[in-house]
Amino acid sequence: MTSHSLDVYGKGTAVWFPDVKEGWTSAQLVSKDVSGDNVKLTFLTDDGKDVVIGTTLTKLSKTNNAELPPLRNPPMLESADDLTSLSYLNEPAVLHTIRTRYLQRNIYTYSGIVLIATNPFQSVSLYTQDIIQAYSGKRRGELEPHVFAIAEDAYRAMLRDEQNQTIVVSGESGAGKTASAKFIMRYFASVDDKDRSQDVKKSNATTSGMSEVEEQIMATNPIMESFGNAKTTRNDNSSRFGKYLEIQFDKNQNIIGARIRTYLLERSRLVYQPETERNYHIFYQLCAGAPPSEKKNLELGDFTQFHYLKQGGSGTIPGVDDAAEFETTQKALSVIGITIQTQWQIFKLCAALLHIGNIEITESRNTAMVSETDQALVTATKLLGIKTADFRKWLVKKQIVTKSEKIVKDLNAQQANVVRDSVAKYIYANLFDWLVNVINESLSNEEVAKNVSSFIGVLDIYGFEHFKKNSFEQFCINYANEKLQQQFNQHVFKLEQEEYVREKINWTFIEFSDNQPCIELIEGKIGILSLLDEESRFPAGTDSSWCNKLYQHFDNPTHKKYFQKPRFGNSSFIISHYAHDVEYEVENFLEKNKDTVPDEHLALLKNTDFEFLDDILTKGSAIAAPAAKPDAKRSSVIAKKPTLGSIFKASLISLMETINSTNVHYIRCIKPNEVKVAWKFEPQMVLSQLRACGVLETIRISCAGYPSRWTFDEFVQRYYMLVRSKHWGPDTKKLCSVILDDSIKDPDKYQVGITKIFFRSGMLAYLERLRLDRL
Ligand code: ADP
Ligand code: MG
Repeated sequence: MTSHSLDVYGKGTAVWFPDVKEGWTSAQLVSKDVSGDNVKLTFLTDDGKDVVIGTTLTKLSKTNNAELPPLRNPPMLESADDLTSLSYLNEPAVLHTIRTRYLQRNIYTYSGIVLIATNPFQSVSLYTQDIIQAYSGKRRGELEPHVFAIAEDAYRAMLRDEQNQTIVVSGESGAGKTASAKFIMRYFASVDDKDRSQDVKKSNATTSGMSEVEEQIMATNPIMESFGNAKTTRNDNSSRFGKYLEIQFDKNQNIIGARIRTYLLERSRLVYQPETERNYHIFYQLCAGAPPSEKKNLELGDFTQFHYLKQGGSGTIPGVDDAAEFETTQKALSVIGITIQTQWQIFKLCAALLHIGNIEITESRNTAMVSETDQALVTATKLLGIKTADFRKWLVKKQIVTKSEKIVKDLNAQQANVVRDSVAKYIYANLFDWLVNVINESLSNEEVAKNVSSFIGVLDIYGFEHFKKNSFEQFCINYANEKLQQQFNQHVFKLEQEEYVREKINWTFIEFSDNQPCIELIEGKIGILSLLDEESRFPAGTDSSWCNKLYQHFDNPTHKKYFQKPRFGNSSFIISHYAHDVEYEVENFLEKNKDTVPDEHLALLKNTDFEFLDDILTKGSAIAAPAAKPDAKRSSVIAKKPTLGSIFKASLISLMETINSTNVHYIRCIKPNEVKVAWKFEPQMVLSQLRACGVLETIRISCAGYPSRWTFDEFVQRYYMLVRSKHWGPDTKKLCSVILDDSIKDPDKYQVGITKIFFRSGMLAYLERLRLDRL
């Protein structure tokens, strides 16, 4: 009935079949038999196999050819630099195009408004000053797809619309988010704005050609990376926090400041590292790079001396010189205005944490013990400026406050270890937040803030995670990704609809899978997070009692689509995220959410003689919830202490508000192989990322509408020969309608707007075939 029917499957038609290894394999139609209602199609795959499909015309028209293999695009389209210019916009076509381009060493491809960046795992010469200059002032599409084109786009839009901009960079660990974010920063910092503003020259330009503030912005990278990045199995320089960097411009479009917001630093890494992974870089830098006198003062040695640094078993990174990196970190700290003296206070604190980790806790008859003369204990407390005896006492004992009395109880060794580690994590989290605050004060003081007229924000945030074992961290990360995905879908959807309205074409509401119910399940009034908080405040609360409450509330038909209880066991729950089903183990959720530090330790730390420690505990904003105690009066106080989950939720909601008030650009980074090898492309791995970052879903959304669009002129130029020459004339719009009437019988396949013609998926390939027949 439609031209989408069997007609498009002619002899020689190229199609795709699923393939376990390659994702998809190409094939050609070799014979087509239609007798009555029955249809038999025979295909020959590129690897020499016959595939026969038997069906009926009735079925095909009912299912819109769902049983037939997806069509392959004409070769001339196959390395298109924008996926939306493909005629057949299906999964294999998308994969094939990205792959073809990657193998031709083109790491960037557009998918409509999205830039897809495939990690080259090799230094590529795409980011030189010449190239930066080349992209400056150019419209997107004039040059090859590039991260600079997105940056320039954002800059232009900021000027044109006087609106703040956001560039969202997402992708899985090791995909290239941080690298892309840094290229964007470099672009803004080093583009020579001769055609931009005339009046303000870079008066205080430094030798690099950057202004002082631009150099400071670049200096935040080594600092944030030293304290917030670590070697993991996925990435030697993996960011363990999310970051939103606002680059601030004045009314003359000069960069005058910046502000950083961070999200959910991974705290557990400070005290534990999985096999082959490391703690935060700064500790290894310090051990490798501190001069002998400081080493002696801080009682530092080789990293192998410290429990907190050697658990992963690999303390060095091939190709990285920690001592040299230490110098880089120090220089960067100086650039943002942290004095050498303060720097050594930071490092002193870091050293103290390492010594805390070495405090030896033994056990005798279920009671934890720490020797009075434990060298690590003595050094740690000396560096921290706190009383050794008190610190030791509250490592092995806890105080229970009831209505009538205070009772001191012994801890066992395992509990004492948890307390010891909680103190170290607390201090480090505060140090990290303090650093961010100092950077912000230095890069955007009140004076600067007054003159900020607009900003471009760059969001470098962990992508969707789905491991064998998933815990609180994955839960938060995936929650963030649900929010970002929703924003993205709504944005893409809105743009589509707006163009249809602008062009005054008839459009029907396009369905897209809104993930609001899943978000509601997580952050709603009675949601997973609020139940977690409730349980965290409850003195007798446990992971498993919380898990049971989840089952009670959500293991029912209403929530079935997003929440499931696993078939076996009672210690996990499954959430159907937009990208994947993920099973979360409930073990330690409560502990991680509470992030408890005993009150006695908080009080001890507050009484420190080490002024700098006091400073970071006051100014760093990391908040520790005191241990829950069975005391009615206290629990009302405790109830007000925010949990990590609630802090994360609040910061995410505020981030979404910011993003939604800006004009958003998207970069999706793809990691083409697990082994981090240059130019190796693993199709299945790429496919699952394209799914997880929403590229395939957006393509589905746009396919439900009219994904291809041509201006009248473009269309006439390419297809005039489809009608007799007597119709040719200067009225392109009229000529278009003649061509369309003549060539496309099904009126649902296209719509004519005010300046453009909109086509359903597949129509371009169809027109191309007609055109070839005429030539
Ligand atoms: P993510 O932040 O997504 O975890 P990174 O940005 O740290 O990942 O990238 C991981 C590694 O991949 C980098 O250290 C770098 O070696 C390489 N890489 C990523 N993008 C590029 C690029 N555009 N050019 C060269 N190498 C890159
Ligand atoms: Mg990163």
